[in-house]
Amino acid sequence: VSVWSAVPAGPPDPILGVTEAFKADKNSRKINLGVGAYRDENGKPYVLPSVQKAEEVINTSKLDKEYLPITGLAEFTQRAAHLAYGAESVPLNNNAISAAQSISGTGALRIGGAFLARHYPTSKAIYLPTPTWGNHIPLFKDSGLDVRGYRYFDKSTVGLDFEGLKSDLRAAPEGAIVLLHACAHNPTGIDPTPEQWATISQIVKEKKLFPFFDMAYQGFASGSTDRDAHAVRLFVKDGHQVALAQSFAKNMGLYGERVGAFSLTTTDPEEKARVDSQLKILIRPLYSNPPCHGARIANTILGNQVLCDQWKGEVKGMADRIINMRERLYNILTHDLKTPGEWGHIKSQIGMFSFTGLTAPQTQVLAEKAHVYMTSNGRISMAGLNGSNIEYFAESVDAAVR
Ligand code: PLP
Repeated sequence: VSVWSAVPAGPPDPILGVTEAFKADKNSRKINLGVGAYRDENGKPYVLPSVQKAEEVINTSKLDKEYLPITGLAEFTQRAAHLAYGAESVPLNNNAISAAQSISGTGALRIGGAFLARHYPTSKAIYLPTPTWGNHIPLFKDSGLDVRGYRYFDKSTVGLDFEGLKSDLRAAPEGAIVLLHACAHNPTGIDPTPEQWATISQIVKEKKLFPFFDMAYQGFASGSTDRDAHAVRLFVKDGHQVALAQSFAKNMGLYGERVGAFSLTTTDPEEKARVDSQLKILIRPLYSNPPCHGARIANTILGNQVLCDQWKGEVKGMADRIINMRERLYNILTHDLKTPGEWGHIKSQIGMFSFTGLTAPQTQVLAEKAHVYMTSNGRISMAGLNGSNIEYFAESVDAAVR
């Protein structure tokens, strides 16, 4: 008898399972709107020209393959912090941001979860928006935190449940950790307005909550990396100490390179040095040190004004294509097809994803009858739509809801 004979089969990953079903479908009109990776106007993965240029620079400099330090390429984490917190940031300019390169956004969240579980003195409770990115829940549980939820999505308006959010954060125990999607909330595509962010910051202050920002889409929401950093910068300006998980998977298209950063704002360089030392103690037995290639790409882009401006233009190009798809989808549904229901949220939501309001049975019909694949909560990746498939998609949705 094998030692593993009692290991039960677990369920497949709900998002990656959509891709499996899509791959198995032989129909030529099939569309995959499940996965959160950008696709160009031809439905193809997109390697950013700025990334290609950075790779040429790296190749010609014939760098060695030595280990990076435990917390990664320091130049990269410094530049990543600059991109997120902004040039005016007080903790940045005071050398009081402790940062570590991470295995993309997931790794940053996991380092953060583990650091908070070990060193945050006040609480083990972390409040996540309902719904949230599915991986947040097991990730923070496995980090040793006590996962709870705050209301976020209002089904009836397909918008933000701001009253629910406020009352849940006000009812949280003092000092609890609260996870906030910095921009382009996944899966809903609904973000608080600047006024609502100001109110959230106030509640976080009153309740002495600890804000942990997940910023997986900087630049993807509005097309501007500065505008998308609004919430993080507002909280820092309001005097909060924050934790931040950054990913360069989406905004640089570096998905498989696993480039990210985790950072914490501290009060001064001496405290930062102590926090740095504990980040190293935490990371060393986890994976020793991070990989270098992707961090070199991001570092080359962020460290060169011309290349960085080019990259920002390319991020805006991706964001604009998505925004354009939203408008076209809205127009086809409401004006051309007169599809029953209210579709304004398609246009008002931001980022890669849209919560369509389609029900689980409707998504099943779409997969079986129309070869259109999405997660069963009705979330679609707008990046999977393009000029060649958007009309077919809209017609399929129209048929599914009638
Ligand atoms: N956080 C959110 C909200 C996400 O949507 C994602 C990716 O889909 C991530 C974090 C982490 O992605 P990665 O680990 O690829 O950077």
